[in-house]
Amino acid sequence: MTIPDLSQLDAADPLAHKREAFELPADTIYLDGNSLGAMPKAVPARLHEVVTGEWAQHLIRSWTRNAEAAQDWMALPDRVSVKIARLIGARPDEVAVGDSTSVNTFKVLAAAVRMNAQRPVLLTDAENFPTDLYVTQGLNALLGGTLEIRRVPADEIAAHPEQHLTPEVGVLLLTEVDYRTGRKLDMGQITAQAQAQGILTVWDLAHSAGAFAVDLNGCHADFAIGCGYKFLNGGPGAPAFLFVAQRHHDAAPSFLSGWMGHADPFEMAREYVPAPGARRYVVGTPQVLGLSALDTALDVFADVDLGQLRAKSLSLTDTFIALMEPLTGQYPLELVTPLDHEQRGSQVSYRHPQAQQVMKKLIERGIIGDFRTPDILRFGFTPLYHSHADVGRAVEGIRSVLEQTK
Ligand SMILES: *Cc1c(COP(=O)(O)O)cnc(C)c1O
Repeated sequence: MTIPDLSQLDAADPLAHKREAFELPADTIYLDGNSLGAMPKAVPARLHEVVTGEWAQHLIRSWTRNAEAAQDWMALPDRVSVKIARLIGARPDEVAVGDSTSVNTFKVLAAAVRMNAQRPVLLTDAENFPTDLYVTQGLNALLGGTLEIRRVPADEIAAHPEQHLTPEVGVLLLTEVDYRTGRKLDMGQITAQAQAQGILTVWDLAHSAGAFAVDLNGCHADFAIGCGYKFLNGGPGAPAFLFVAQRHHDAAPSFLSGWMGHADPFEMAREYVPAPGARRYVVGTPQVLGLSALDTALDVFADVDLGQLRAKSLSLTDTFIALMEPLTGQYPLELVTPLDHEQRGSQVSYRHPQAQQVMKKLIERGIIGDFRTPDILRFGFTPLYHSHADVGRAVEGIRSVLEQTK
């Protein structure tokens, strides 16, 4: 591999100015935006206004104040949906924002399982993120154990679709980018293969949304969910999103049938009538503080060309992999992230027998990545606020920590 010229890459970076939009602590290189995105500088002022103005002064009136300009609290979930829809290749009425990713996983899985109720198997990645696995278990318990939760490694499903995407499977739940290895699946191809067998797909976009352009409708996806606090930078515990393709809007049931998902919440009717589109999945009172932070955070993306976002992400991860390459010969370090661009998200991971200790020392030096059990060192790259110079400095720090840990 050739050694990249970092200053030349930074000079040619069309997104370099975006770093100014973020508050980042001095003397650190933050490589964990895939777990908790950095804070956009505009967020504190917006929260201050929401708390001291809209809440303290206007109180209950803020729910409907400025409804004409759609600046009311009631419209916040829909306003945020519009901004997220652009990043994930969806129509705004296909997106609902609120609750957590875990809760949204339950909502769409329950709908998909019900829609394909004649098929007993829910197929998922054996290595999926724990919450995705646990939610399938809880849903199955509610259904009296009538589902068969089948767990197969995602790479195996992708390699042998004819063996795994079979007529007894009703729903396929996959995470596009693996949280440990950063491996990205071919969402379009797997969706097509599943649908050819009558299977409904649910895609977890936790490590996709905001990291690169996601094209749900281009992939003809059925359902999706994703996080607000990772690459979307919405802040700790930010509201999550979900996606339901328009062609399913009439058929997709909402089992968490709360009043805010009613067609007319203030009619106070006794019978539940679902709101049109994905709005029916906004279950209860919108989380105004969290939604306001996320709403402001998403403005950073407003003028970002998503093609440039992906190109920068790949350039950062390519640079990191190239600079780390000599270290993999000198230390017990094994790259687990695919080299193929088509199969890479926006993080790079290595195995190391003392990964936990190595990461502890890195964090003490201000190089903040994370450790994932049992032996994974994980480094997330955020095209909006990293430079190639950051990558170079991170690798220098990693080199000296590996030397100390020998
Ligand atoms: C981070 C992550 C989640 C998080 O779910 P929460 O409900 O926000 O805690 C879910 N799925 C995947 C794949 C994740 O990486």
